[in-house]
Amino acid sequence: MANRRSLLKFLGLNGAVFAAAPSQLPLPPTAGSGQVDRIANELHEAIGGYELDDSHCHASNSGLAELTPREFLIQTSLAALPRASYFPTGVFQRWSAAIGDEKAALDRQYGIDKKLDEIVFNARESIFIKALTKELAGFLGCAPKIETVVAARNERARGLYPQYISDLFKDVHLTNAMVDTGCCDGIGAEGSQAYAAAIRPCTMRAISRIDTIQNALFRHDLSFDELESQFIANVRSALDGTGNFGFKSWGMKWHQMERLGVVKPRYDSSSAKQSWEEYKSLRGKPAEDREQEADRGRTLKEYFLTIALEECMKRDMPMQIHAGDGDAPGVLLRRQNPYNLEEFVRFDRDGVMRMPKLIPIHAGYPLVGQAAWMSHLYTNCYFETSLMNPIIHQGLERRFGEILEAVPMSKILFGSDSWSVPENNWLAGRWGKRYLSRALAVYVKEGSLTRDEALEGAQMMLYKNNRRVYNLPA
Ligand SMILES: [Zn+2]
Repeated sequence: MANRRSLLKFLGLNGAVFAAAPSQLPLPPTAGSGQVDRIANELHEAIGGYELDDSHCHASNSGLAELTPREFLIQTSLAALPRASYFPTGVFQRWSAAIGDEKAALDRQYGIDKKLDEIVFNARESIFIKALTKELAGFLGCAPKIETVVAARNERARGLYPQYISDLFKDVHLTNAMVDTGCCDGIGAEGSQAYAAAIRPCTMRAISRIDTIQNALFRHDLSFDELESQFIANVRSALDGTGNFGFKSWGMKWHQMERLGVVKPRYDSSSAKQSWEEYKSLRGKPAEDREQEADRGRTLKEYFLTIALEECMKRDMPMQIHAGDGDAPGVLLRRQNPYNLEEFVRFDRDGVMRMPKLIPIHAGYPLVGQAAWMSHLYTNCYFETSLMNPIIHQGLERRFGEILEAVPMSKILFGSDSWSVPENNWLAGRWGKRYLSRALAVYVKEGSLTRDEALEGAQMMLYKNNRRVYNLPA
């Protein structure tokens, strides 16, 4: 192991002692970690200034420009996403629109406010929010209290929300944002265009969600032939034309594994047709439980994913698939294992493994090891960090270390999954770069990586891999 003097020389510092920037290190150095701290600081001085591509995120709408502290906490809490699902269908929407006696009656019947209060109470006590508060206070120049921070961001965003978003993005050098258009309160074509304009000079690159296309068709009473041909036409329009809310797409996203569990490619249209007929016959009939409900139309859903993946493969576009993490209470947590996707990673047909570009997103969190190991084994399977970054804050240091032990640096993509307020994109940039620097420093200290290799790896993970995988123009 290198001693301190030779290590500093190796880093090109010639023994010079440089001051640690306090904002770059959230913790005081612990015994024995001083060497790693020094290397991490030195790496972060470079990495902090690197460009950053957000490999998976969503647009923010102007309704989020001004929020109460309570609403800010709800908007940043996964326990509140999607909050309407905690109540019978339509109840939350009715309660949101109601006033006076009607609202009070709904509250008495369903305890809506009480449930939200509990979510807010617990969110406030999370280290995520406590760390966010301090980080944002530094950016906004205000006291590190959640009420003060929310007031300061509202002040800055009032009437100037696009400018505020752009300022946050510029601060972390966000250059490309891969935006999954299938979420966010029906933001629509107009909202998506406004968002694309707001984030400049960062460029929005739209990702089309299969579920958006599929679910709109599933509501109609179509024959199977009509359903299939309309689905294919809409996928092609989203990929090649302007069918993705006015945008062309750079890839697709599928958000159904978290309900279906193990999924397999389906090539047989007759079994897909049978699945569609069954699906239609069960409409409006209650299922026995959540699993039975999720399984309705299973073969058809797998068949549509197969078709969409074929279309992506023809264009050398990647497919993002939600794996692990988030969206309770709408998912079946026990069905979210990244390994459930193995047959689609292989994409066998006629004895040939066709291996399309597949990206299980959200790091598979908390099953990070499975997502990392699958991308270690299958060269066409990538690893993507969104939602885990920034949600696990300081835990990123340990997780980056875990990911780097198995996944080549050429396959790790940096995402945020920012789904409401743009502060999440910014936090993912700030914390992602900081804790990546710390994780890399451990490898540099041990001599597994040179300083230059660590910095080159960071550039790959932060933006080069994203541009390569999605074939973005230079
Ligand atoms: Zn997402």
